Amino acid sequence: MSKFWSEAVKRSSPYVPGEQMNISNLIKLNTNENPYPPSQQVKEAIQSEIDTNLQLYPSPTVDDLREELATTYQLNKDQVFVGNGSDEVLAFSFMAFFDPGRIIRFPAVSYSFYPVYAKLFDIPYEKVALNRDFTLPVEKFFQADGGVIFPNPNAPTSIYLDLQAIREILDNNPDCVVIIDEAYIDFASASAVSLINTYENLLVIQTFSKSRSLAGLRVGFALGNKQLIEGLNRIKDSFNSYTIDRLAIAGAKAALKDTTYFDYTITKIKQTREWVTSEMKKRGFCVLPSSANFIFVTHYKEAAEDLYKWFKENGILIRYFQSPGIDNYLRITIGTDEQMRTFFEKLDYIL
Ligand code: PMP
Repeated sequence: MSKFWSEAVKRSSPYVPGEQMNISNLIKLNTNENPYPPSQQVKEAIQSEIDTNLQLYPSPTVDDLREELATTYQLNKDQVFVGNGSDEVLAFSFMAFFDPGRIIRFPAVSYSFYPVYAKLFDIPYEKVALNRDFTLPVEKFFQADGGVIFPNPNAPTSIYLDLQAIREILDNNPDCVVIIDEAYIDFASASAVSLINTYENLLVIQTFSKSRSLAGLRVGFALGNKQLIEGLNRIKDSFNSYTIDRLAIAGAKAALKDTTYFDYTITKIKQTREWVTSEMKKRGFCVLPSSANFIFVTHYKEAAEDLYKWFKENGILIRYFQSPGIDNYLRITIGTDEQMRTFFEKLDYIL
C-alpha cells in the first residue's frame, strides 16, 4: 500500500463493473443495459450539438435539461439535480446527506456501490437482511440513525416495493434522508416521485442508462425538495462546476421528449420479460417476480456457476451471484426477442 495514500484511499474498495470485453461478438445480458439503441431524435440532437456548439462550455446549471425533467415529473426546476450517471449522483448524495458517526441502513442484498461509497466517505452502515422471499423487511428500516438507501425495484432481486410501504419508511424516519434509487422504476409501476412534495426527507434518484437507452452517455438525476437539491449542488460545485457535457445534455433532452419511442421500448422489454419468465419456469427455474429489465433466477438442480460459465463460453454474458443470502443465483438482463431466443438455444443444449 502506498505510503502517500490518504486514509480515504486506504479505506476504499472500488466497485468492479460487469464484464465489458469484446462486446461486438457477445450478447451482453450482464449489466442491465437496454437492448434497443437510443431513438433517432436523440442521435439527431447529438449530431446537431456537435455541428453547432461543441466549442463552448456547457451550462454549469444545466437549466434546460432540468427544466425538461421538472416538466416530465411535475416538479419545479429547483427540485431537480443532474449528474454524470446516477452513480455520481449517489456518491454526491452520500456526501451531502450521510455523516461519519451516524449509521445508515441498506438491504444486505442490494446495489454493490452502497458499501463502496459508505467506506470511502467513512459512513458506518448496517446491512438489513431481506425476508426469505427476498422482499424488503419494511419495519427494519424504521428509526434509522443516519439515513436509509435502497433501490426500488431492488437490484439484483428485481422486486418492487409499493408506495404504501415507502410512505411508512418515510414516516418513521423524520430526522434523516431516505434515498430511493429508482434506476429501474420505468419497468415497474408507481414512482416515489409523487411523494416528494409531501416528504422533505425524500430523495429519488433515476438514470437515463436503463429505460432511456443512454448508458453510454452517463446521465443521472435526483429529485427532491429544494433544500436537498441545494445540498447536492454545493457538493457538486466543490468538485466540478460543469456537471455534464453538451452531448449528454442534448441527448438526454431529446430522449425525454421522445415519449413514443420510450413507451414502445418499455412495453417491448416488459413483454419479453414475461415471455422469458414463463420459458425459464418451464425449464425448472425459480424466477423472482420481476419489475425490472432483468430477472433473478435459481435452478432446482443446476449450479448457477456452471450455467454462467457455459453461457460465457458460448458468447453470452450473464451475472452469477454467490454470497451470503444469495446462494446459487443468476441475474439475466432482458435482451431483444432474438437475443433471448439465442439464450434459450444455448440453455436447452446444456439442460
Ligand atoms: N443504481 C442501481 C441499482 C444500478 O443497478 C445502477 C447500474 N448499475 C446504477 C444505480 C447506476 O447507473 P448509472 O450510473 O448508469 O446511472
